[in-house]
Amino acid sequence: MSSCLCFRSFFHKQKDSEEPEKKQQKEEQKNSTTTMTTQTATQKNPSFVLQAANKVVYEDRPIPSLPSPYDVIVRPRWTGICGSDVHYWVEGRIGHFVVDSPMVLGHESAGIVHSVGEKVSSLKVGDRVAMEPGVPCRRCVRCKEGKYNLCPDMQFAATPPFDGTLARYYALPEDYCYKLPESMSLEEGALIEPTAVAVHITRQAAVKQGDSVVVFGAGPVGLLCCAVAKAYGAAKIVTVDINDERLNFALQYAATTSFKSARVSAEENAKNLIKECELGPGADVIIDASGAEPCIQTAIHALRMGGTYVQGGMGKPDITFPIMAMCTKELNVRGSFRYGSGDYQTAVDLVASKRISVKELITGKVKFEDAESAFSDVKGGKGIKILIEGPEEPHQQQQQQDQTFLKSRI
Ligand SMILES: [Zn+2]
Ligand SMILES: [Zn+2]
Repeated sequence: MSSCLCFRSFFHKQKDSEEPEKKQQKEEQKNSTTTMTTQTATQKNPSFVLQAANKVVYEDRPIPSLPSPYDVIVRPRWTGICGSDVHYWVEGRIGHFVVDSPMVLGHESAGIVHSVGEKVSSLKVGDRVAMEPGVPCRRCVRCKEGKYNLCPDMQFAATPPFDGTLARYYALPEDYCYKLPESMSLEEGALIEPTAVAVHITRQAAVKQGDSVVVFGAGPVGLLCCAVAKAYGAAKIVTVDINDERLNFALQYAATTSFKSARVSAEENAKNLIKECELGPGADVIIDASGAEPCIQTAIHALRMGGTYVQGGMGKPDITFPIMAMCTKELNVRGSFRYGSGDYQTAVDLVASKRISVKELITGKVKFEDAESAFSDVKGGKGIKILIEGPEEPHQQQQQQDQTFLKSRI
């Protein structure tokens, strides 16, 4: 459920002048945030908890202890919100994953190592790391064949019943933490999770030098698929969406051509796509990062004979699928779920080597105490990626109090 694929209209335009009522609301929100900041700063492990659909609270959870000597405790500093987090917030469930007891939200994080187990050899206190949020059993057949994302005993952050990363402390095995190079910020580190999703999709698609690649959906994962396909040498990268602003962004970001889907039949859309984007006999690879039925149907019709299709987006569980075209064109049709062996490290390497850039995707940052407003923004389709800052350190708060106290004495 980690494919971060929301499909609402992004790039909300701000109004020039604000109505006085709204100003007052903002002022009130600011004041409550200040109260909340004081509250969370005095808590040991403030955590952003989903209690039930549409009900979130800040709870003081116990500070996690190291589950094994190979584990580390990380202080998450930045966490991105994705479609799945918002889905849990709104619906209290995704398919058969149901939130029936309170759960900490968040799974796209980067942070600072706070403490290490005695057998930890690759990390030390203070290291900055991207945090891979799913830890498999390491013992089952799927794990042993190298496809740990398919492990039936996966413990994945913010997927019931496992808590997420929107807390002051989070425990992880050392090999699920990826050291960030000096050149990378912790904010960029938080974008490694959706980048790893895109790396996995692009690997499933086996994109190679010179390929023509079409990506349906210009949300965060679709955009990152364009960027990874480009890094892997794709000659033509077509972004497809129904929103002009998103298409323009994708063109500036990584795509070489854009195509706006029309409300016509899938066959006709595919014909127009091939013609307008000069895809010759059809595209070599098509990735769906939308989950939308008409996109999936168009994609199958727009592939060349023997082309490859990868399903990355999650939409309706059942759709009408052009299975005859798939059969007679002998298409390779594959699924993609989260990320597996090597994907997280590849994502870090791609960003560190500047072969892809993720900074542009960060369209908003909020304080920990404003997490709920960030969820509303994502739900309302504002921006591409909104990051939530980790809780303020208790000692910083103490320092501020000390300073205020000193000032009052001068
Ligand atoms: Zn995600
Ligand atoms: Zn396993």
